[in-house]
Amino acid sequence: MSGTVYLVGAGPGDRGLMSAKGLKLLREADVVLYDRLVNPLLLEDTKRSAELQYVGKLPDRHVLRQEVIHDELVRHAVQGKKVVRLKGGDPSVFGRVGEEASFLEEYGVAYEIIPGITAGIAAPAYAGVPVTHRMLGTSFAVATGHSQGPNGLKLDWQALAHIDTVAFYMGVKNLPTIAENLIKHGRSKSEPVLLIQWGATNKQRTLRAELGTIASKATEAGFTNPAITLVGQVALLYKGKSWFEKRPLFGRSPIVLNDEHSNSLINALQEDGAEPFLYPRFVNEETEVPEINLLEVDEFAFYESADVDVFFRWLQKKTVDIRNIKAALCAKTKSAENALRKRGIRSNEKALTGLRIWLGPEGKPMELDYQFVPTRILKRKQSSEVVFDRVKEEESITEMILPTAEAVAFLVEASQKDKRLKQLPVLCLDEEAFSLAKSLGYDTRMAKDVFEDRLGIWMKDWLNRWVETSECNFVRGTWQPN
Ligand code: SAH
Repeated sequence: MSGTVYLVGAGPGDRGLMSAKGLKLLREADVVLYDRLVNPLLLEDTKRSAELQYVGKLPDRHVLRQEVIHDELVRHAVQGKKVVRLKGGDPSVFGRVGEEASFLEEYGVAYEIIPGITAGIAAPAYAGVPVTHRMLGTSFAVATGHSQGPNGLKLDWQALAHIDTVAFYMGVKNLPTIAENLIKHGRSKSEPVLLIQWGATNKQRTLRAELGTIASKATEAGFTNPAITLVGQVALLYKGKSWFEKRPLFGRSPIVLNDEHSNSLINALQEDGAEPFLYPRFVNEETEVPEINLLEVDEFAFYESADVDVFFRWLQKKTVDIRNIKAALCAKTKSAENALRKRGIRSNEKALTGLRIWLGPEGKPMELDYQFVPTRILKRKQSSEVVFDRVKEEESITEMILPTAEAVAFLVEASQKDKRLKQLPVLCLDEEAFSLAKSLGYDTRMAKDVFEDRLGIWMKDWLNRWVETSECNFVRGTWQPN
C-alpha cells in the first residue's frame, strides 16, 4: 500500500515553534525532504534509520527544481514509506504546498497538510511587535516581495496601501519598488517599517526606519533575505532589543563536542537562549541479554540508572525472580542509587571477593577489579552529519565547547569537515582537554577563565551548579562516577 506524504510546517527558526503534530510525524518519518529555511536541528528528532534529503539550495547554489521534488515525494510514497515534506514557516504561505498537493492528488498519493507558524507573524513577535493591535492596526495582510517575471512585482498596491499592517516576504531586493509603490498609492513617507532578518533564530537582526528611507538603510546595514518587511503603525511598538534578544545567551550557537553527559549542558544552554548543536549525536542501543548465569554473580555494580533498568529487563527476559539474586547490588552513582531505591532496593556495599560484574555503557570508565558486561552500546546518528553540513552553510557557529579530553577527537573531526571551524574559539571545561586542544593549535580557553565573555561567565556558573548537583564528578578529563 502506498504511504502518506505529510506536508509539514516547521515554523520559522526556533525549534520549539513546530507543532506537536508535526514533530510526532517527523519522529516517525521514513523519509524527510527538507528546505533551506528549516532549522537543521529539527532533524535530530528523526529516527536513526530515516532517510534525510535536502532539497533546498545545493552547495553549487542551485536550487533543486520543484518537479524533481514532486517526483521524489511520489517515488518514496509508492514504496509505502511515511514521507515528511518539511517546510520553513507555514507550508501554505509562499510554500508551494498547493502545487505539491495537486501533484500528489494526480498520482493518487494520500497526503495531509500540517500548518506551521509563518515568519510574517513570528519574526515580528520575536522582535517584540504584534502584527495587529487594537489601536495601531486592525487589518493584516501578507504579500510577496519577490517578482516572478521580468515585469516586476504584480501586486494590488492600491489595496495594500490601505491595509494597516502588511508583511512582505522575500522582499529585501525589491524594497525600493515596494516603498515607492506604497507611497505612490497613498501611504505616508514617514510610515514606520520594521525589517527582521533571520527572525526567531540566533542570528535575528532588526532595523526600523520609515518607508521613505528603509531601502537605503537596509542596503547600508547589509540586510538580505530571509527577512520580513513589516509596514504599518504597529512597527512603532518596536523598542530595540526584544524579549527574545535579551535572553542571556542570545546569538550564541556553540558546537558542543559530544560527551555522553553533554545533554544537561545542551538543555541549560537552550534554556538561556543559545542554540547549541551537539556533535556528533549518539543513540544508546541496548545490548542483548548476556550469556552469564545471573545467579552465580557476587556483585553487580551499576554505572547509572539506565543500567539498572537494563538489568531488570534481563531478569524479566530470563524469568529470574529478583529475590533469587544473591549478588550485592551496588550503585556507583546517585542516579543508579535512585533507580535501585525506586525498586525497593538499597544499594549494597561492594562485595569483597568473587565474581564482580560492572554494568554500564561501552567506552565509559570502570573500576579495575570488575568484569565488564556492557548494557548499552553507543551508535552514531546519521543526522549529525546532515545537520552539520546545513549549519555550516549558514555559518552560524560561534564557538566550540570541549567538555572532556575524550571529545578532542570530535573537535579535530569537525574542523576537518570545515577548515573555518579551526579559527573559532574552543572553550574547555577541563584542564586536560585544554592542554590537548592547545597543543593541536586551537584558539583554546578555559571556560572558567573567560571572564569578559558572556558565555564564559555563564559556563563558569553552570559548572559550579552542575558539579554540586550532578550524578558524576568531573575529574581529569573523564566523568568519574561518585
Ligand atoms: N513558508 C514560509 C515562507 C517561505 S518564503 C513561511 O510561512 O514563513 C521565504 C521567505 O520567508 C523569506 O524570503 C523571508 O521573507 C521569509 N522568512 C522565512 N523564514 C524567515 C525568518 N526566520 N525570518 C525572517 N523571514 C523569514
